[in-house]
Parts: sequence; C-alpha cells; structure tokens
Amino acid sequence: MANPVLPSSGVLSPLGLDAVRLSPGFWGDRAALNREVTIAHCQEWEEREGWIGNFRGERPRRGREFSDSEIYKLLEAMAWADHPELPALAETVAQAQEGDGYINTRWSGSRYTDFEWGHELYCYGHLIQAGVARLRMHGEDRLTEVAIRAADHVCRRFMEGTQTCGHPVIEMALVELYRVTRAERYLEMARRFVERRGLPALAEIPFGRAYYQDDLPVRQAQVFRGHAVRALYLASGVVDVAVETEDQELLKAIESQWERTVARRTHLTGGMGSRHADESYGEDYELPPDRAYNETCAGIASIMLAHRLLLATGDARYADLTERTLYNMLATGAALDGRSFFYANPLQVRVPAVPLEGVNHAAEGGLRSPWFDVSCCPNNIARTLASLPAYVAAASGDGILIHHLTPSEIRHGGLAVRVETGYPWTGSVSVRVLADGEGRIGLRVPAWASDATLAHVPVSSPDAPLPDGPVIRPVSPGYAHVDGPWRAGDELRLELPMRPRWTFPDRRIDALRGSAAVERGPLVYCAESVADEPPLGDLTTRVDPPVERAVDGVVELEVTAVLGAGDNGGWPYGVEDAHGGGADVRLRLVPYHRWGNRGPATMRVWLPI
Ligand SMILES: [Zn+2]
Repeated sequence: MANPVLPSSGVLSPLGLDAVRLSPGFWGDRAALNREVTIAHCQEWEEREGWIGNFRGERPRRGREFSDSEIYKLLEAMAWADHPELPALAETVAQAQEGDGYINTRWSGSRYTDFEWGHELYCYGHLIQAGVARLRMHGEDRLTEVAIRAADHVCRRFMEGTQTCGHPVIEMALVELYRVTRAERYLEMARRFVERRGLPALAEIPFGRAYYQDDLPVRQAQVFRGHAVRALYLASGVVDVAVETEDQELLKAIESQWERTVARRTHLTGGMGSRHADESYGEDYELPPDRAYNETCAGIASIMLAHRLLLATGDARYADLTERTLYNMLATGAALDGRSFFYANPLQVRVPAVPLEGVNHAAEGGLRSPWFDVSCCPNNIARTLASLPAYVAAASGDGILIHHLTPSEIRHGGLAVRVETGYPWTGSVSVRVLADGEGRIGLRVPAWASDATLAHVPVSSPDAPLPDGPVIRPVSPGYAHVDGPWRAGDELRLELPMRPRWTFPDRRIDALRGSAAVERGPLVYCAESVADEPPLGDLTTRVDPPVERAVDGVVELEVTAVLGAGDNGGWPYGVEDAHGGGADVRLRLVPYHRWGNRGPATMRVWLPI
C-alpha cells in the first residue's frame, strides 16, 4: 500500500497512491507542477548551497546543523513521485553513513553532544520517512538500506536511557517503519521517546521547556503549545503510538488537546503559530493577523495530525480542518510557478516586500522566496504534494469515503469511481461509478455547507428505465452515504452552496474585534493591493453580499469599502470613535492562496467593518 500513514487499526483505512489518482484540476495540477518543477528546483538549490556536497565530504561543511533533513524530505518527495533522480541522490547520501549506522554531516565526530539543538534524531526521522516511502512505492534499495541501518543504530543507542530530541519527528517515523517491517523494536523505541518527554528529558532554555514540549508529560498537557511544528509532529507521533499500542487514554489526550487548540489557537486559514520569536503558539485567543507566523510547515504538520485523527476516529471535523488548511496554507505555500515559497503566512501585510533574487535569510517577507537558509518549507511542500492522493479518500469496510472533492479516480475492493468537479470554484461534484460493484459510497459535506443536496442518478437502460427522475435529498455536514449495488454509469451529484459568506471572529480574539472576513466554499479571501490599487490601511468595509467575478477561471469577489481614516490630529486616540468619510470604492478580494503572485503588495484578510 503506497501510503505515508498506514495504521494497523482505526475506524477508517487509508487509500494510498495505488488506489487514488489525481486528474487535472486544482490539486492534480499542483501535484503535476510539483513533480515536474518543484522537486528539481529543491534539488538544484540543495546542490548549489552545498547541502548535498556535505554528504560527499566537501569541506567546509555548509548549511545549518539540520540541513541533512532537507535532503531526506526531498528524497521522500522523490520516492512518492517515483522520480528518476532518487537512486543517484540516495547513493550520495549513503557515502556519509558510518559503520554503525550513524549518519549526520554536522555532528560526525562529536555525536550526541547537543540534544536540545543538534537535531540528530530529527534528521533520522526524515531519513526514515523517506525510507518508508521508498519501501512502499518501490521496495528495498540503497535508500531503504541506509534508513533501516540508521533506525537500528537509534534503537541500539537509545532504547535505554532518558534522552530524546529537541525536535520531534522520529516518533512517527519509527512507528511507520514498524508498520512496514513489523519489527517491534521500532514501535517500542517510538513509545519510549514519547513517554520520556516532559519528565523532563531536555535542558531548560531561554524559550522555556514548553518550546520543545518538554514542560509536561504528553498525557498531562491540555493544549498544543511551544514551537508549532514541533508540537504537531510530536502529536502525530503520539497518535501513531496510541493506535499501535491500543492506548485509548493517550489518543484521547491528543484529541482533547487538538480540540482546544482548534477552538482557541488557530487562524482562519488553518494556520497555527502566533509568535515570530520562537515560531510558537500564543496564548488562547492570541491570534493577531499582522503578527501571525503560521509557518507553512506547521500547516503541513497540522494536516498530518488531522489525517491521523480522521483515520483513527472517522470524525469529519478532522477532514474539515484538513480541507481548510490544504486550500489556505498548503496551496498558499508555493507560487503558481512552483519555484518560490512562503515560510511565514501572516493574515495582514502592511508594507510591500522588496523583491529578492537569492536566498532569503529570514522566514519573513511579503513575497515568496526561491530558497531560505532554513528551507524546511519548500521540501515539506514537495513531499506533501507528492503524497497528496493519500489524503483524498479512505476505505470504510468495502466502501469508499471521499474526504476531498477534487478531480480524481478512486478504486477500492470492487468499487471504482471517477470524481469530476470544478471545486473549489464551483460547488457541483459528480461521482460516476466506472464498473458494476458493491459497497457504500460516502461524500464529505463540508461544515460550512448547510444546505447541500445529493442526487442519486442511476444509469438508464432499456431493461431498467430511469424512474421519474433522480432522487434529490438534502444532506447535512458530515458524510452523506449511498449504498450499492452499483452499475457502471451510475452517478452521484453533490451540490454545495457556494455563496460568499461573511465570517466574524470570536470576541475574545482582541486583535480582530471590529473586523470580518469573507469566505467562499473552502477558500478564505483577502484584499490585495498592488501598485496604484487602493491602499488597505485606512478603509471601512460594508457587510453587503459580495459580488462574484470570474477572472481566468478563478472566482474573485468585490465588496464596497469607504476609504480614509481621517486626520488623527497627531495623536491616534480620542474621546470619540472617529473615522473619515471618504469615497466609496469597490474592493477586489482574491483567494488568499493566490496573493503575492502579482508582485509586491499589501494584503489583509480581516477587513474593518
Ligand atoms: Zn518550514
């Protein structure tokens, strides 16, 4: 089964790359661009920056202490994409492996001297994930040999003791290696890494131990905190351990931490991480739009976690957050040409960025960059898009459950269906049965789709003429099911309401009071101002129904705003709630994931009303 996550049990069983094929469409096009452009782009930059040369022993060593992990994430992307460059790159990596399985181009010679910041186990985690991808897509080869030797080295070195890594990821990697090899030691090693955390296992640091989730045992925590990517990778590994060891208490702990985090610490886009200083979550309701950090990797990590929880529980709310994060974080992360990337994803940018040709030395910036000193995000986008079919649908008994409505072909057991849709631009989805078969077909109705309908249209034939017409019934958010048997040509037609809607923030989010945002379907919209378009700093928006405009196959929106904040007299506070009364303008709103593709711009999701 060609799948990044393959639990031994759970309410749903995943369907992998061998069961789901993306067709041209919103995600199929992005996956194709990733395969054809982004993977090669990442490899070129890793070579240019010397990070691949590190494995050949080139000196001086270049890149940050965790740069090996970027090559491993790229190898994982190549494995899912069955990329022809993989064997040669794996051979280069193998040169750096030592006799006992140790491999790290930064710490060779001074092994395991810095668990807080050294990232050695983190790098193994990504190597093992690449190895698992290769095992499932292809079978044993040089890459899987290197990964398994490294994993065995970790088990020998760390099975006893109290140590763990300042950056989680090895936990989920080891569980997945257990799932593919059935060697118990990998699961036991992952379980011990999870249980050691918070005892504590790591040193105190200026950010505090919460930064790397070492402030509390994972079972005692109430909410995700600290560095967002670390928190979400750890939680993903904890779910994996909980599922494999049938530890319901541990699973419930992560479910309730997820619930509170989603309710109080998540941006409208699905982005997580409010603080730039330590790339961390803020306190409950600390969700400033302009200072939002929302690392692209945290969005991807949130998708990884929600996917695991969805498989374990079958609860549609996990697919809802995944969809929000796919369309408003993952799709935002890469430019339309697949060659530049966002690291931070704020919801307001006040000053247009200055274009940059080379490496971005910071995570910030109002324009996508071709590469970063820390290039976790581009490689993470590459591996996620390469494995994206695995997130689209799942199996439930002999049935198919379609989580994400995107053009695709899905096969499971005796069922084969083709999904055709212009989603997210239109709300019409057709699921056509390709061969006679049995089993239930389920379609996810998103949480925002309060008046959706589903039509069952049996194929017409002389011996079974179509009755009076298809049966159309209203369906509620969650999963709408229709049971077989099916005949080739049978069709399900889902209609989702795509009217743009105004969205208002919880009043406890102080930074958003007095503003509203516009969403349509799964997409968050934003006002973007380039060149001589109206400035976005001093406007008041009317909460009237937005007007739709189709522009080059994309649905844009228009709302009315009043420009001008008035003169504040040299002091931006006063005894009255004053605002200027300028001219009415039509304010153009574009999907948030498309912003920043027209050159330097200011942008805001939340509009003052
Ligand atoms: Zn990142």
